[in-house]
Amino acid sequence: MSEPTKTLCPYCGVGCGLEVMPPARPGRPVNRDAQGNPVWQARGDRRHPSSLGQVCVKGATIGESLDKSRLKHPMVRDSLDQPFRRASWDEALQRVADRIQTVLSTQGPDALCMYGSGQFQTEDYYIAQKLLKGCLGTNNFDANSRLCMSSAVAGYIQSFGSDGPSCCYEDLELTDCAFLIGANAAECHPIVFNRLQKHHKKNKNTVKLIVVDPRRTKTAKAADLHLAIRPGADIVLLNGIAHLLLRQGRIDAAFIDECTAGFAAYAAVVSQYPPELVARECGIRVEDLETAARYWGESKRVLSLWSMGVNQSTEGTAKVRTIINLHLMTGNLGKPGAGPFSLTGQPNAMGGREAGGLSHILPGYRMVKNPQHRQEVEQLWGIPAGSISPDPGLAAWDMMLGLENGSVDFLWVAATNPAVSMPDIERTKAALRQSPFTVYQDAYYPTETADYAHVLLPAAQWGEKTGAMTNSERVVTLCPAFRDPPGEARADWWIFAEVGRRLGFTKQFEFANSAAVYDEFVQLTRDRLCDVTGLSHARLAATGPIQWPCPEAETEATSANKYNKRLYTNLQFATANGRANFAAFHAKGLAEPPDPTYPFVLTTGRLYGHWHTQTRTGRIDKIRSLHPNPFLEVNPRDAQKLEIQSGEWIEVRSRRGFVRLPALVTQNIARGTVFMPMHWGALWADQAEVNALTHPEACPISLEPELKACAVQIIPLTVQHPEVGEISPQVASKTLRQPTESTILTALPPG
Ligand code: SF4
Repeated sequence: MSEPTKTLCPYCGVGCGLEVMPPARPGRPVNRDAQGNPVWQARGDRRHPSSLGQVCVKGATIGESLDKSRLKHPMVRDSLDQPFRRASWDEALQRVADRIQTVLSTQGPDALCMYGSGQFQTEDYYIAQKLLKGCLGTNNFDANSRLCMSSAVAGYIQSFGSDGPSCCYEDLELTDCAFLIGANAAECHPIVFNRLQKHHKKNKNTVKLIVVDPRRTKTAKAADLHLAIRPGADIVLLNGIAHLLLRQGRIDAAFIDECTAGFAAYAAVVSQYPPELVARECGIRVEDLETAARYWGESKRVLSLWSMGVNQSTEGTAKVRTIINLHLMTGNLGKPGAGPFSLTGQPNAMGGREAGGLSHILPGYRMVKNPQHRQEVEQLWGIPAGSISPDPGLAAWDMMLGLENGSVDFLWVAATNPAVSMPDIERTKAALRQSPFTVYQDAYYPTETADYAHVLLPAAQWGEKTGAMTNSERVVTLCPAFRDPPGEARADWWIFAEVGRRLGFTKQFEFANSAAVYDEFVQLTRDRLCDVTGLSHARLAATGPIQWPCPEAETEATSANKYNKRLYTNLQFATANGRANFAAFHAKGLAEPPDPTYPFVLTTGRLYGHWHTQTRTGRIDKIRSLHPNPFLEVNPRDAQKLEIQSGEWIEVRSRRGFVRLPALVTQNIARGTVFMPMHWGALWADQAEVNALTHPEACPISLEPELKACAVQIIPLTVQHPEVGEISPQVASKTLRQPTESTILTALPPG
């Protein structure tokens, strides 16, 4: 291969274009890592419309993760206390199919569950829906997107009548005021932030940047106005801004009259949020609140950006809708530079939504509860009417509860690592240990979740199979295979289809390749908001990335993102009356507020270099050296009271568990709040799993858990811990582990 392969970065939802090249290319020295191993090279694709050639450290180093710690062969065991033994694909798949058959005949379809991932390509997602929801008759498919952006999905559906972010990245360069809330884009969505920051710097006198975050993050440091509100005060703040806009008459009355419903009830609620009350409850100055309202009111084009800081909350859907309310009252929607814009966490969480990859939805932005939607899908799938259950399936945390109470008998986990990422991790692990039969399908081994599996299935990862992914701005990119999978690894969609065929659904899974899978999927988007009937692998390969909607009727002329940049430009929404809905919410605050026993609020988040549970990034030297260890950010005044200094070891306790890690004393965190990164699971550090502390209370609408906040206490280990006694940082640091390649390799039997 002499020409680079154009593809998409498989990490975050920004969806940057990559060009990937093999280690050895004619006329060039072999590309090697620090240990001298040949590694694939990746660089930004200048022609990709979303990233224009930019990449962050994760995308730039992705090549180093391709060959490390790969699961190469199917492995099986009868119980968790046995070692794995190598099995053929035939034996492993038959085991899975036989077990499904047994569960179906003894307990029924709802005892089966699959937990998938925004790392899937759209084809993987689609085939999993067809297998579970269509052929097996259960909607128990959920994805890790439930932990990430299901509140955004619910908010869009309730406000606009359909899921679907309406904005595009070009809006980052057209806005007069960017309002970031619960989004540390500089670290979590770096290329989105780069584009915004460039625009902001270039137009310093006219473009405003507001950041709402309890932490003084890298994003907040770049802002004109940083509102460091108390965790959980988001709705108070948003209602307070609305109150001032209303009081000052800075609203778009014509837009409200012609395009929305429910404004009077909303106005009645926000009238109860005067600035003094809002400032007091948020812990900010009245002047800063007034400045935020002034920036909103004086700007012709306001763009809101949010991610997990809003979504991961027991009020997640209410927060999303309260952000959207501000756009509706000021007419900041459906035009360049303006709109509410959720940033997705994973590379193909958007594609997952399009393919129906959550337990309450079906392909083509359809709803499980809607009889007509079920009928449309059944017809295309060629299955009898009534095959799809009318009941939403189990959401992610409910699957753990199902294992706990014995109603779930079969769990299939693919491309994700719930033994690190679920809330209340000790309870999660206990539930996983109780699972009678767990299939774990992943590209890597070991992972924390592999410990709980009865069958391991080796998956090809993104560059070893061909499929499509959709990024946060609805741009679909074809990701072609550019290398062979290692060992016997196979594409996720192929594995699902093979099990389907073994269960007798031969006709439903007769696909020659992933292009054929995609061709069938797009038919289910016809005439839907996310219509991609004009797309195919062949067209994406020929033209490059294309933004949806892209209906079949659209011609080649639409292929270069010249159209369809924004949704709702005609101000017609997907609701029954075509109007967008206001919603009025009072703030309820945190599910677990601080109290005298647990006086601090712990908030959690990502670091710039690491990705989720480190399955890839923990194996990349450069990223490990950027972020070698977990830590807890503590405000200097809290640290003084606790008599701790940076580098000293502390124990952090919640009602569910504890972690031990070094303190990082910093002004970047407000008093009473502490911050811990989310990336360290049991494989990478002892007793430093953030989810040992978090709780599973979730938004009642989106079912997204409040992973962003819980109440904790802090105990300095050097002073107060009776079991550990005096502990120096040098001794304590031995509890922080970095698995080496040799320890990883010895974890699997040879083969
Ligand atoms: S910003 Fe996201 S998509 Fe872009 S290179 Fe970084 S991790 Fe990849």
